[in-house]
Amino acid sequence: MRRIKDKNGGFFWACSDPDCHSFLPDADGKPGAPREKAVPSEFPCPVCGKPLYRKEKDGAPYWACFNREGHANGENVFLPDDNGKPGKPKQRAPRIVTEFVCPDCGKPLLLKNGTSKTGKAWERFDCSGFPTCKSSFWGGNGKPNFDKRAKTSR
Ligand SMILES: [Zn+2]
Ligand SMILES: [Zn+2]
Repeated sequence: MRRIKDKNGGFFWACSDPDCHSFLPDADGKPGAPREKAVPSEFPCPVCGKPLYRKEKDGAPYWACFNREGHANGENVFLPDDNGKPGKPKQRAPRIVTEFVCPDCGKPLLLKNGTSKTGKAWERFDCSGFPTCKSSFWGGNGKPNFDKRAKTSR
């Protein structure tokens, strides 16, 4: 194996045979253990039926299927973890077009509501001019509160 400097100033190891495409990470100047390959789980993807992969992000598990060709929308499927099993996909809250208009651009506001983790109901009014206009307001009783701007990453 040869130790090779990568673009980011780090190192990796490559087999000295150019026809062999084996790479290993660098571990204190020695070839490290190969990265663990993801192992398919026993749980099928709810969309295409292929095995889901259990992944982790910041220590929190989640489930994913990367078989985009098998998904009607052509996107990867992600599911939350439910006690070691794939949970139900998150439902996107429906958006309702309201009679209220955005004070920044004059486009109608969309009402989105849901329930917080603590069980509190919330209402938010997002500008329909997104992404040109990123205005968003908290509200209540079906009305936006223009003094309470919401920070949102839609
Ligand atoms: Zn799938
Ligand atoms: Zn707007």
